[in-house]
Amino acid sequence: MSLAPAYLSPSNSPIEQYLRQLLAKHAGLEEGAVADYIPELAKADPRSFGICIATRDGHIYEVGDTRQAFTIQSISKALTYGIALEDHGEDFVLAKVGVEPSGDAFNAISLKPESGAPFNPMINAGAIAICGQISPADGQTRSEKILARLSAYAGRTLTVDEAVYLSESQTGHRNRAIGWMLRNFDILDHEPTDILESYFRQCAIQVTCRDLAIMGATLANQGRNPLTRERAVDPAYVHNVLSVMSTCGMYDYSGEWLYRVGLPAKSGVGGGILAVLPGQLGIGIYSPPLDRQGNSARGIKVCEDLSRDLALHLFANGTAPQPSLRLTYDGSQVSSCRRRPSRLQQKLRATGHRIRVIELQGELIFSTFEPVIRLALKQAPYCDFVILNLRYVMTIDEVALKMIIELKQTLSELGLQMMVCDGEQFAKVFQEAGLEQSMQFANEDTALEHCENELLKRIVGPDWNKLTPVSLKDCFLLSELDAEELAWLDGEMGTRESPQGDYLIHAGDPGDSLYLLVAGSVEVRLPETSNQAGKRIDVFEAGMSFGEMGLLDGLPRSANVVVLDDAVCRVISRPLFESLDSVRPGLKIKLLKRLSYLLSYNLRKSNDEVAAYRG
Ligand code: GLN
Repeated sequence: MSLAPAYLSPSNSPIEQYLRQLLAKHAGLEEGAVADYIPELAKADPRSFGICIATRDGHIYEVGDTRQAFTIQSISKALTYGIALEDHGEDFVLAKVGVEPSGDAFNAISLKPESGAPFNPMINAGAIAICGQISPADGQTRSEKILARLSAYAGRTLTVDEAVYLSESQTGHRNRAIGWMLRNFDILDHEPTDILESYFRQCAIQVTCRDLAIMGATLANQGRNPLTRERAVDPAYVHNVLSVMSTCGMYDYSGEWLYRVGLPAKSGVGGGILAVLPGQLGIGIYSPPLDRQGNSARGIKVCEDLSRDLALHLFANGTAPQPSLRLTYDGSQVSSCRRRPSRLQQKLRATGHRIRVIELQGELIFSTFEPVIRLALKQAPYCDFVILNLRYVMTIDEVALKMIIELKQTLSELGLQMMVCDGEQFAKVFQEAGLEQSMQFANEDTALEHCENELLKRIVGPDWNKLTPVSLKDCFLLSELDAEELAWLDGEMGTRESPQGDYLIHAGDPGDSLYLLVAGSVEVRLPETSNQAGKRIDVFEAGMSFGEMGLLDGLPRSANVVVLDDAVCRVISRPLFESLDSVRPGLKIKLLKRLSYLLSYNLRKSNDEVAAYRG
């Protein structure tokens, strides 16, 4: 046996080491025989043996002969079933082909007595009927379409093994008989001759064990190939495919397979097995000798071991999904970056708890989102606003999407506003579900600001936000100064008027002055070099000051300051600040007192936020 392909890239992963042991453990198994009813198949080397696992995110573990080509045979039946469903929908397909395990051999000429419908799409009769339903399209013949779709599953261009195709076509009289039976019962609506050739060609598509694992991972990944990101099958039909694999995929060993291995799977007489752990991974096994039921004998043993050792059995998996409730806090613990004049600030501190932020994470499905509804409704009597932060959410399924929209509706009936933030990747689905654009915020900061503004509007009245220029004595930093000191400082300070959009400060500038904003407003933004370039971290308006850190520690500016509303600043330069020591020591102490108050305020705000974010 050649182990070469796997060892071309030696890996120390314990997972590959485990797979190597598994390969070694079963390589000696001599049970079973290579299929020979299709003469070409008899040429397979019974010692060939490969095991491959592909994860949902596209990582591949492979040992043994994982790159050796063989024909896909019956494994194709699971994949063509998905194509027929896409072409005609569930009702039409179900009317022609059932989904009951037959208990018969794969090539039995067994059809339901009254209707003539094959029991399921995994036996030959069902698969030939399904093949007949695949409509040629876009200039592609039926066979070309099947080849293209299976290639999408594998993430590479597959080809047909012409020798195996011819061999089966020349000897497949039994399948031809099945085809004519199907025609007799009108399950096929025209002559089966060319349908049978398409069926023989689909079975003769060459794959490797690695391809099977990737095809499995594609099914595990809702139909999207994890390597190429190409969609191989409509996600709406993935569960149909996996269901028939579960009940009928391993011929008349399917019941025992589900009991022992517990994974949807499909085998083929070429010696391949494809198994899927939905949502997680795909498995490909290749070993040509078949047992009595027509399944790869080593493949069955390997899958039993894999399922037990890695705890993959679907029904032994009682692990609950990660809860989607990550953290919750309110608007008194965390506030937006917009600084408020102290009278508004006090109002917000007293009422901020009426804003409830709920941070979500992971996959939103019925069982993970249901506790969020409970929490939101429990909080409802104490809040006016609920913000769902989606920053750490990976996926939202249709049910959870509906639940979000209905929760918003219920809360709105109770008088609450609900909004989402940080959910850019879901903007399209939200839009389709009817969530207004105005209730979707780019980040938590802007959502919080919206809620704070609404709260202030309710408490203070419609004019709460009127920006009016302030006199020097209304500047917080100067609030301890008496009239004479104010007049003196007025004469000493510089003035800077800047129109909207102007940069008052650039990151990297020397920190050589402190600004008192007496009119307008400014925003502090992270510099272009930051990994959150342009993110706002502060908003100041008339009466507030900024730039004090540079003046105190002498370090260069760490962020940009951009004018939002035409601004007028009074400027205390470093020379002026330092001269106060000798000229106006009393005034300097008053300034420093206010400055240290500001710093401790900032620190306390950061501490509160850190505490809230730690949960
Ligand atoms: N082409 C094969 C046949 O129809 C496929 C059978 C199989 O893999 N079980 O006989």
